[in-house]
Amino acid sequence: MSEPAARLYERFLELLTPGPGPAGPPPPRDGRAPARARYGERLDGAGRSHPVLITRDEWILDQIDLARSFDQLLTADDVVVVAAPYELSFTGAGVDRAIELIGASVISVGTSNTICPMPRLLALIKEYEATALVCSPSLATELAVLARASQQPPDHASVRSVICVGEACSRERLDRIGAAWGARARTLYGTASTPTVAVPCAYGALHVCDHRLRASVRDVRSGRTAPDGARGELLLAPADTGPPGGGSRATGELVELGPADGRCACGAKSTVLTPLGRVSEAVATRSGPVCAVDVERVVFDRADLAPHFACAVREGGFDVTCAVTDGVTARDGAAQRSLEKRIRAELDVDVEVRIVAVHDWNTAVS
Ligand SMILES: [Zn+2]
Repeated sequence: MSEPAARLYERFLELLTPGPGPAGPPPPRDGRAPARARYGERLDGAGRSHPVLITRDEWILDQIDLARSFDQLLTADDVVVVAAPYELSFTGAGVDRAIELIGASVISVGTSNTICPMPRLLALIKEYEATALVCSPSLATELAVLARASQQPPDHASVRSVICVGEACSRERLDRIGAAWGARARTLYGTASTPTVAVPCAYGALHVCDHRLRASVRDVRSGRTAPDGARGELLLAPADTGPPGGGSRATGELVELGPADGRCACGAKSTVLTPLGRVSEAVATRSGPVCAVDVERVVFDRADLAPHFACAVREGGFDVTCAVTDGVTARDGAAQRSLEKRIRAELDVDVEVRIVAVHDWNTAVS
């Protein structure tokens, strides 16, 4: 990090007074929203939207953590295309500001796909020789395919860093996305109420910002606090609040906390978080909730699969769609049956797998 940027963060921190933390909005004054709050919305498991307010202090502290993370991924020379959600979300605006703190350049594209549809986005990458892309894993995949179809091979493009946000994604699929772009791929993790919860280390693991947040999990069936290393619903509280579990807010997000050996290879002691999607999109099994990320880990064991992945949850199982560049494999029922057998055996869920050719992907999943 350049020295001026580091001093800027320190100035920010000096200016801040202790805030009420990220677990929820501060109590309203006179029934009105508090001053210095930022408004966003979140969707619950049934798709209903709910307002989310965060204070100025939370917003700035969040961006400082994000900027410190970007400092490991970007430099002031980078040109970053941000195709993350802006509308009623904290993500796009927070990412923009954190990139600006690093001193890099920003092209804010958003996700509406109207003013800046994907061909335009690719044209911007080419024209301004963008070096980094911030977007969902699905969009990074679609863009790579479109680039290749447009005689603009993504692995020959100027992009050297793909930073995925907004979707849980297995390491296996992330590596496939990085390979498609010829770039380093990393993820960031936040919730709709707390934009930056965990940031990647040099080994790609996501470490909880535990100087600011206290993360724990609860068993999705019993609702009891789960031990470290267990899988469950993520609970978040400000780091400086009371005993474990006290003041925590449920997020509706399924995660695992902590590596099996209690320590990441990078040496940092902060908790490692593995995002697993929404609790409402997991399937209950005898050994606990199983999610699309588990299916990804099995599926992407196959070296011939493109990074495309769609997984719809249904009662007792998943409907999975994968893609290959080879039309022969797409018509090969044996490959499909082999994947189904492995997923059923390893995850104890029912599953139907379709393998389609990459050029049929949009039709297959629409
Ligand atoms: Zn680490």
